Amino acid sequence: MRTVKAVGAVNASDPLVALEIERRDVGPNDVLIDIDYAGICHSDIHTARGEWGAIAYPQVVGHEIVGRVAEVGSAVTKHQVGDLVGVGCQSNSCRECAQCQLGHDQYCLNGNTQTYDSVDADGTITQGGYSEMIVTNEDFVLRIPEGLDAAKTAPLLCAGITLYSPLRHWNAGPGMRVGIVGLGGLGHMGVKLAAAMGAEVTALSRGTAKRDDALAFGAQHYLDTTDAAAMRAAWGTFDLIINTVSAQVKITDYLRLLDVDGTLVLVGAPPEPYSVPAFALIGSRKSLAGSTTGGIAEIQEMLEFCAEHGIHPETELITADADEINAAWQRVMDADVRYRFVIDTNTL
Ligand SMILES: [Zn+2]
Ligand SMILES: [Zn+2]
Repeated sequence: MRTVKAVGAVNASDPLVALEIERRDVGPNDVLIDIDYAGICHSDIHTARGEWGAIAYPQVVGHEIVGRVAEVGSAVTKHQVGDLVGVGCQSNSCRECAQCQLGHDQYCLNGNTQTYDSVDADGTITQGGYSEMIVTNEDFVLRIPEGLDAAKTAPLLCAGITLYSPLRHWNAGPGMRVGIVGLGGLGHMGVKLAAAMGAEVTALSRGTAKRDDALAFGAQHYLDTTDAAAMRAAWGTFDLIINTVSAQVKITDYLRLLDVDGTLVLVGAPPEPYSVPAFALIGSRKSLAGSTTGGIAEIQEMLEFCAEHGIHPETELITADADEINAAWQRVMDADVRYRFVIDTNTL
């Protein structure tokens, strides 16, 4: 075991504090990563605050991790000391179920091991990336390709793959009219990725404050969702819409925007259930779907895609000072970030 510095939650309500956590010894198939950067995801806040269910404290969150390999176990073949690597939302899975066999470890039927707030193989609770170092099984460590800027790459490991996976699954590409609802950490990646895939992209957001950004990210069109006339004019004009908003939205408004056979995919998760009238789907054979992150192989593919197309998240770098992270969390909750905070964990 080794003790490492971290910033974490000690209960559901108090601000995050500097603390120390234990990392397991490097096993034969493990990689020790000296963490350089950790992205701040809204899920970190929901989890630490107990909003998605009771958790054990202290809890260190963070599942957008980039760093250098500092040590490898005796049986490790995929990574070498000094490699630039990443860890995303899941850190292990059963590897045996039908979904793991397909490479869809994000949908492991036996429940995968999340990078934080999950029961690890040794019975301890996993602790995430707001820390100096992490020990991860080599199969769940991603290679960061040449050409990606390490300081901006961390958000690809959750926000990036959460949009890449559904865009690929529903075949976003030339000739497809894709809408991305919400221009936050997830949505801005959706616009960049869908545009790079060749789709005709519309960014949908409240008001016009983010219009110029959306067009700069590659959207051809911008739709102000508070403009009732513009929304009415856009009925039936989308093949695929991905809703990244984790607050409750009027879902029928977005179903109306779909053409026949169109699909609305939810990647944002409000705590309250949605209510959907059957006729909102029946009349035009529409689908309402959901999607979460992506499997390890698909995350690697997404990283290569981003390197090839020069795609980086828009990031704001902060130090690992607990007060600074607390202030950043407040800004995430206030939707006052363009577009993802990254913690420089070398400042711990
Ligand atoms: Zn996340
Ligand atoms: Zn499995």
